[in-house]
Amino acid sequence: MLSAMKLMLTLFLSGIVACYGGNANYNSILLVSFDGFRADYLKNYRLPHLQEFIEDGVLVEHVTNAFITKTFPNHYSIVTGLYEESHGIVANAMYEEDTKKKFSELNDTDPFWWNEATPIWVTNQQQENRRSAAAMWPGTDVKINNTIPHFFMKYNHSVTFEERMENITMWLNNSSPPVTFATLYWEEPDASGHKYGPGDKENMRKVLEQVDNHIGSLTYKLKALGLWENINVIITSDHGMTQCFPHKLIKLDDCIGRGNYTLVDTTPVAAILPKNNKKYVYNLLKNCNTSMKVYLKEEIPDRFHYHHNKRIQPIILVADEGWTIVQNGSLTKCKYFHPSCSWWLILLNFYFYC
Ligand SMILES: [Zn+2]
Repeated sequence: MLSAMKLMLTLFLSGIVACYGGNANYNSILLVSFDGFRADYLKNYRLPHLQEFIEDGVLVEHVTNAFITKTFPNHYSIVTGLYEESHGIVANAMYEEDTKKKFSELNDTDPFWWNEATPIWVTNQQQENRRSAAAMWPGTDVKINNTIPHFFMKYNHSVTFEERMENITMWLNNSSPPVTFATLYWEEPDASGHKYGPGDKENMRKVLEQVDNHIGSLTYKLKALGLWENINVIITSDHGMTQCFPHKLIKLDDCIGRGNYTLVDTTPVAAILPKNNKKYVYNLLKNCNTSMKVYLKEEIPDRFHYHHNKRIQPIILVADEGWTIVQNGSLTKCKYFHPSCSWWLILLNFYFYC
């Protein structure tokens, strides 16, 4: 079974990657992301459906996300094979000075932001007799390079996993030309990790059981439809998550007046656009807090691969792990932190043979 199909992907992300492959007349891939699935959840919680899935395939125990560790940039790295500076989705919130355009999680459908790269669903669909299908992977409801998946769902976080799964399996099962690349995205366990904190074992156990049941339902559905032997399934994630603490707070208002800059993106890597005097803003921030590194764009270390794009702001702030950057206020709502992975940023080339 494992030698029947060959699947090669280049990924740089955090979390687990597990892969199952069957016999097929054509190569078909279903790429599934459970947002914010930290690699060690697999060891620390009982996840029988996921374990069964892994036993049928292969497991990469740890992979490293791109810098910065946000959802949109990393999901686009997974499907383009590019660092963020190269594919252009450099943050969850972006601003481009030339065009005055803004990008956010609620305003993400302008192809302008996505057209610097070609995601795999576009490449797949541009081949003869192939279709792509998507159940809510970031960017799949946008016309990128004039191509949108033949089957796609407009992003809506309130649509259940079951509905997404029903759609994607239906499309995989009933399409001519066939769907040869499909994506399935689910917001958990990221949403609960943000809400409760990844260290909240009781609440995380509940949500991870739900995630595991989703994997069980997906496997069952693929088998029931007779798709299981004809598809490669990859289950992965975009980044990990770590606890932050109310006393580990970096308050920008203590160091600099808000009139001096625009906060384009927030913690744990904050993007600063100075209003007038860049050096003045930089110097104030540089001396703000010993738990925050401050880089001029041109000083950002090469190992971050986060420099060559005009959407990267002139000053970048990087909080140490466990610390949170705010303008003011407390941490009553914040119980999460995406690790910035500054010591771990390595381009990893994984080749999966399924
Ligand atoms: Zn995410």
